[in-house]
Amino acid sequence: MSETGDLIPRPKSQFLKIKCNCGNEQFAFDRSSTIVKCEVCEETLVEPTGGLANIKGEVIQVLG
Ligand SMILES: [Zn+2]
Repeated sequence: MSETGDLIPRPKSQFLKIKCNCGNEQFAFDRSSTIVKCEVCEETLVEPTGGLANIKGEVIQVLG
């Protein structure tokens, strides 16, 4: 029997600063379970996938 516990990736969510095509910048979690829309143009910025969210906008900053 071997110890393989270290191979299991830890679910670590990060806070992202995302820039929309319209120039608006807002924050969202990279494991968001809900759709995050731009507060200005209502473009979808983050789409939940069940795991790591699908980021549609441009990630300009990652905050641990
Ligand atoms: Zn926008």
